[in-house]
Amino acid sequence: MASLTTLSIAGARDGLRAREFSALELTQAHLAAMAGARRLNAYITETPEHAISQAAESDARLARGEARPLEGIPLGIKDLFCTKGVLTTAGSHILDGFHPPYESTVTANLWRDGAVMLGKTNMDEFAMGSSNITSYYGPALSPWRRPGSAADLVPGGSSGGSAAAVAAGLCLGATGTDTGGSIRQPASFCGIVGLKPTYGRCSRLGIVAFASSLDQAGPLARNVRDCAILLRSMAGHDPLDSTSVDRPVPDYEAMMGRGAKGLRIGVPKQYRVDGMPSEIETLWRQGIDWLKAAGATVRDIDLPHTKYALPTYYIVAPAEASSNLARYDGVRYGLRVPGASIDEMYELTRAAGFGAEVKRRVMIGTYVLSAGYYDAYYLKAQQVRSLIARDFATAFESVDLVLAPTAPSAAFAIGEKMDDPIAMYLNDVFTVPANLAGLPAISVPAGLSADGLPLGLQLIGRAFEEDMVLAAAKTIEDAAGFSHGPGGAR
Ligand code: GLN
Repeated sequence: MASLTTLSIAGARDGLRAREFSALELTQAHLAAMAGARRLNAYITETPEHAISQAAESDARLARGEARPLEGIPLGIKDLFCTKGVLTTAGSHILDGFHPPYESTVTANLWRDGAVMLGKTNMDEFAMGSSNITSYYGPALSPWRRPGSAADLVPGGSSGGSAAAVAAGLCLGATGTDTGGSIRQPASFCGIVGLKPTYGRCSRLGIVAFASSLDQAGPLARNVRDCAILLRSMAGHDPLDSTSVDRPVPDYEAMMGRGAKGLRIGVPKQYRVDGMPSEIETLWRQGIDWLKAAGATVRDIDLPHTKYALPTYYIVAPAEASSNLARYDGVRYGLRVPGASIDEMYELTRAAGFGAEVKRRVMIGTYVLSAGYYDAYYLKAQQVRSLIARDFATAFESVDLVLAPTAPSAAFAIGEKMDDPIAMYLNDVFTVPANLAGLPAISVPAGLSADGLPLGLQLIGRAFEEDMVLAAAKTIEDAAGFSHGPGGAR
């Protein structure tokens, strides 16, 4: 039954409806694949009983001809989404034993549409990281290796477990969250597609908060169509999240076939950063040629404040994180380390419960929000954030989409860049601007690096124009014909 784990979501949907296999068989094939790939540490918690009972319900629905849009489709859920009664850790020791009493809106939408939960995927602690090495549960590993090398590679982060699981055939698709690149960068590293929707497109209710003004949920899948299918189910207004937007959710799958004809593509010169490997530049040029060949016009654009995006992000995100993480005090959730006084209990709990990267962010965030430095750092960063958003608004007067690389390199090995937080932060140079401006952006696999690893191209669109982002991504996907998988062709 191994081939059931290499299907696309669209292919599985067709096969289920044609009764070529059952939802139970599809789920069991994935559970078996997960059991055989625990080395990758892609899942923190596997939920086989849950999966089997949802699959049985799907089979009953399919038999009655009442299939819902994602009927019987097995998914991985990033362990940042609260799942009712199922351990939810955010990759952190401080949430030990936390079984949420409620379901996140995004996952509730997926179950409403018939999807099946295989388990909760590994992630950087509180979604802080670019390599999945900050997880309390140990790193998730990429299923990819450099040809001829046995070195384990990072899957990217923070949705590293989701990306590894999708690439390795341990689910048909997965949820992720993207605060500064955490869907797109792991998608690029693992040779899959990842979409960060417009801020407000998906509800944040029940997603453990990292940086509330930047966090956004989105899909990771093995092709563009599958991302379109998942987004339609995940997105929508939620009266319980005042930042979710009340706009109809289009049928993205039906709209993504429009191609790139007539689209105006902008290429930001400021994204040509110092020290960028020439293979990234070459891939970018290739993307331009593909879109031109499909009938798009391409022009240079100016995003003059790009150079401030990374420092702005690394002030705004830790500031919001330091505030959001104040709730983990040993009283309400998870871990509690007793102390002689309540203050000591707080201190001991937070000292034991948070890892080094989370502590670093809390300290940076507290510092930039402190009375003496608020104006110099936090307020300034908010002002620069507005300028970055304005750059995009100006550019989008004359272009429809922006094309850029997703990440400045292919995946690196476990152990590389690990003792230098700045080197790690530089990974996010191309992804954070879309978060700061709240715009939709996708990473689509476009080629291989010189050492045989996947590289993604990124498209950024206007707010709520995910349909156009997906259509152009489909054009690149078709032109690239990327058929590589870890360990050979898929
Ligand atoms: N790598 C970035 C960070 O460490 C982005 C993380 C994310 O998008 N959640 O903050």
